[in-house]
Amino acid sequence: MTVKRKAVALISGGLDSMLAAKVILEQGIHVEGINFYTGFCIEGHTHAIRKQERARAKRNNALWVAEQLGIKLHIIDVIDEYKDVVINPKHGYGAHLNPCLDCKGFMVGKAKHWMDEHQFDFIVTGEVIGQRPMSQRKNTMPIVARESGANDRLLRPLCAKILAPTLPEREGWVNRDQLLDFSGRSRKPQMALATRYGLNDYAQPAGGCCFLTNEHYSAKLADFWQARGGKHYELDDIMLLKVGRHLRPRPHFKLIIAREEGENNFLEGYRRQYTHFRTLSHKGPIALLDGSAGTQDLHLAAQLVARFSQGRGSPTVQVSITEKDDNTQTLDVVPLSNNDIPQGWYI
Ligand code: SF4
Repeated sequence: MTVKRKAVALISGGLDSMLAAKVILEQGIHVEGINFYTGFCIEGHTHAIRKQERARAKRNNALWVAEQLGIKLHIIDVIDEYKDVVINPKHGYGAHLNPCLDCKGFMVGKAKHWMDEHQFDFIVTGEVIGQRPMSQRKNTMPIVARESGANDRLLRPLCAKILAPTLPEREGWVNRDQLLDFSGRSRKPQMALATRYGLNDYAQPAGGCCFLTNEHYSAKLADFWQARGGKHYELDDIMLLKVGRHLRPRPHFKLIIAREEGENNFLEGYRRQYTHFRTLSHKGPIALLDGSAGTQDLHLAAQLVARFSQGRGSPTVQVSITEKDDNTQTLDVVPLSNNDIPQGWYI
C-alpha cells in the first residue's frame, strides 16, 4: 500500500505561496497551510482601518487562499518569539528594517517543528530565486534550508527545477518534472500559472509581506527604538506605528495624529494609555502623545494638533488635553503654520 504523503505549506496570503501549495496539491499530496502572525503583517490592518481603503474586501488573505485551495489553515501567533528576529537578525537587515533572511529561517524552522509534531513529510514555500534581493537568492536558499533544520525536506515548487532535487523529489513523493523553474523579478509566469489554474482573485503583489519592508514604517520603528533607548517593543507599539501621522517636535515626545476617520476611531481605543488631545472649537483629529511632556511641551503639542484641525486658519483653537490619570485641561492656542513645522519633525 502506498503511503499518502503530507506537506505543510507556508501561506502568506500572496500569490506565490498560493501557487506553490496548488502545484503540490495537484500531485495528489495532502496539503495543510500555516500562516504566522508576527504583528508586522500588512494583512487586514491598514486596509481594515483606513477609510479610503473601504472599497477593498476586508478579508484575511491567508484564509481566503486556504478557502480557494480547499485546504486547512493553521494561523499561529509568533509575536513574542519573532521579536528576537527583528531585534537581532544574524544576517542583518535588507533595504529597511526587514530581516528577511532570518525571518525565512525562523518561519521555516517553526514549520519544521510543526511538521515533526504532526507527522507531516515535507515543507512547501512559494520562494522564487531572484524574486527578492535579500532572502530569495540562489546562495541564500541553502542557508534557509540549513538554519531552519528543514534541510532537504524543504521544497520550493516554483523554482525546484533550478535547485538540487530535494528528498520529496528523490523519493518520488512528488514528480520533479511537474515542478517549475521560475526565477527573477518578473511576476508574469506566476500570473500565467494562476490563470491556468483558474485562480483569478488573489492579493496583488506588493513590496513584501510585512511592514518592515516599508521605508516609512522602518523610519518610525528606528525612531521609536532611539527614543526608547533600546531595541524592544510590545505589540501595541508596533501597531501604532502603522497608524497616523507621526511627528517628533522634541526628543522626549512624539505625537501620533489621526489622518482620517478610520484612524481616529482606531486611536480612540488607545486614548487611556496615552495623554491625548482633541480640538473642541473646531473639528479635528484625535492625537496621542508618546513620551513625557512638560507644560511648554503640552502647549506646543496642542498648537501642532490645532494645525491639523479645521481651525488651522483661525486665530485660536481650543484644545483639550487629557492625561492618563484622566486629568483634563483646556488650552486656547494659536495653530502652528506649515512654515512653523520643520520637515525634520515628520518621522
Ligand atoms: S517581508 Fe517581512 S515577513 Fe516577508 S520575509 Fe521579509 S521580514 Fe519576513
